[in-house]
Amino acid sequence: MTASVHTGQTFEVRSPSDGRLLDTLPDGTEDEVHAAATALRAAQPAWEQLGPRGRSRHLLAWLDWIMDNERRLQELIQAESGKSWGDTVFETTIAVDMINYVTRNAEAWLTDQHPRTVGLANKTKRLQVSARPYPLVGVITPWNVPFGMPMLDVPFALGAGAAVLSKPSEVTPLAWREAVRGWREEIGAPAVLDCVTGRGATGAAVIDVVDMVQFTGSTRTGRAIAVRAAERLIPCSLELGGKDAMIVLDDAPVDRAVAGAVWGGLFNAGQACISVERVYVHERVYDEFVDKLASQVAAIRQGTDDDHSFSADIGALATSAQVDIVEGHVRDALAKGARVLTGGSRGPGPGNYFAPTVLVDVDHSMDCMRDESFGPTLPVMRVRSEQEAVELTNDSPYGLAGSVWSGNADRAERVARQLETGGVSVNNVLATVFQASLPFGGWKQSGLGSRLGGAHSVRKYCRTQARVVERLTPTKEPHWYPYRPGRARLIARIVRLLGMHDWRRRLSSAGPSSPPVS
Ligand code: NAD
Repeated sequence: MTASVHTGQTFEVRSPSDGRLLDTLPDGTEDEVHAAATALRAAQPAWEQLGPRGRSRHLLAWLDWIMDNERRLQELIQAESGKSWGDTVFETTIAVDMINYVTRNAEAWLTDQHPRTVGLANKTKRLQVSARPYPLVGVITPWNVPFGMPMLDVPFALGAGAAVLSKPSEVTPLAWREAVRGWREEIGAPAVLDCVTGRGATGAAVIDVVDMVQFTGSTRTGRAIAVRAAERLIPCSLELGGKDAMIVLDDAPVDRAVAGAVWGGLFNAGQACISVERVYVHERVYDEFVDKLASQVAAIRQGTDDDHSFSADIGALATSAQVDIVEGHVRDALAKGARVLTGGSRGPGPGNYFAPTVLVDVDHSMDCMRDESFGPTLPVMRVRSEQEAVELTNDSPYGLAGSVWSGNADRAERVARQLETGGVSVNNVLATVFQASLPFGGWKQSGLGSRLGGAHSVRKYCRTQARVVERLTPTKEPHWYPYRPGRARLIARIVRLLGMHDWRRRLSSAGPSSPPVS
């Protein structure tokens, strides 16, 4: 059962839980993308002129509209993604947190900076740095968090003063498209936000018309975008795939670690870039951990509870292709000697479901320990030491995030510092992505740059202009033409007197290798 089917200039969006047709949308052409970009560019200068406070008024009006229409937006999210209602409702809270964060802080973050000068010759200068937005930012997002994901980027780009052309995934475009309609038609905001729908070619067309790209998606697509951005010499910020590890040490709070593994591995049916994708457990607590994990995963309720009842924990996967990947990883593991303790197969029902699964006796020859599964599987491996867990964790092309579990904070920090990942949670899972004041970004094949992180959240959408203003304006600077030997000697003496660290060099006129002053 596919979630989207392309038919010429349109594509269908279908429910992953039962295959019903939800909508048929335009597959945006290059001309349409170009027209949208032209209109956004025309509206952007006035948006920038509004300043952070003026822009915040519109962002807050948008937040009001989103919350007034929250239930309808959540129903769209659930219909297009097949999530459980519990996994669905958290998406709109992202809008609340992010819009409040940017509107409360953008003015301070965008204030001019006045760095101190460096070097004697610069003492008479006043230095200023101001941030000016890239006029048009492209935001391209995947299907796993259809509404919350663009909400991690778009409010910040708008807050910076940029116009934004967004391109949601062709699998799940409905809720985000409706949110953008709200901005454009319901709250009287300037037309500085638009949404084009379509598949990869539409996304590629977006890269060709914008001044900066914020992309979230697979490493394969991210690489193609980086190449195109390099050809156009525009910056890109890339949030890509992951294979996050969970390290459970022998002094870990085992019950909490088990509950963390269950939620961290199965949240959103495992379709989170920072899902727990592999677990390394110290041999002293391995048996207890695995027994408890298997029984808790077996108790997980699966379904798409579209009666808003919270009667399911995890829902469907967004596409049948994703179910194929997960099934392939389980089959590969079984063929190489792994065992399934619970789950391990498709179902229930005809939708894109895969049963929550615990795999043991796994090793790094298996796809489930090396490639992104992006599904509800928890492969668990026994380790003999903390060092072995660190080495196995780092034995990956990915480096997004991960977690360390220990009753000793110093030990956990020591392990965390050795991990080659952009983020680490201690005694928690998935925590780094929700801290807007921390940089969130992947190392290695997991990304370039970082999303969010205090002032960086807004300043990443800006170019900086550096200005040097003279306080004194004599006719000439000492180092301007014509060059004179006496003046050169005087400058050289002053440089040594004030710049050297010992008296012999301070008082000497030139070092042994200095060229003679003519
Ligand atoms: P994807 O790369 O297939 O698609 C992502 C988006 O890119 C879609 O909107 C798609 O239409 C568009 N696209 C495809 N080809 C393009 C091209 N050539 N040029 C421009 N745009 C193009 O990813 P997906 O399958 O939708 O999402 C799953 C992936 O996203 C996983 O790998 C997951 O780890 C990753 N992800 C990463 C993060 C993070 O923050 N690091 C968060 C969520 C998801």
